[in-house]
Amino acid sequence: MFGGNFMSTIKKTCKVCPVNCELTIEKDIDDSYIVTGNNCGRGVDYGIKAMTTPSRILTGRVLLKNGNMGRLPVKTTGVVPEDRIEECLAIFNSTTVTAPIKMGTIIIENILDLNVDVIAARKA
Ligand code: SF4
Repeated sequence: MFGGNFMSTIKKTCKVCPVNCELTIEKDIDDSYIVTGNNCGRGVDYGIKAMTTPSRILTGRVLLKNGNMGRLPVKTTGVVPEDRIEECLAIFNSTTVTAPIKMGTIIIENILDLNVDVIAARKA
């Protein structure tokens, strides 16, 4: 069969390891998923999860010392599954950083082992 049978296709960068493979995930008419572009099996799981689990880039604030504002805006470098957002926000709320901080500085590395970092969304 030639192409054109897939119901939907998305492109996504695999964040499981630093190789950052560019995945293509296609949903077939029988609701199965086909992942290509991955260099290893973990990319298949990541790609299917990306299609089936609601998730989003998370933004929030951490406490800031020595800055001209009380809190520093932060954001995740990748998507966080909806069911882990509250845990992430609890960690944000218990994190304190001290100025000066450059925009993009990693504030929390690999939060909850989700393979995403939390970085400063602005300088302080
Ligand atoms: S597919 Fe495998 S090799 Fe590629 S980024 Fe994901 S984990 Fe790394």
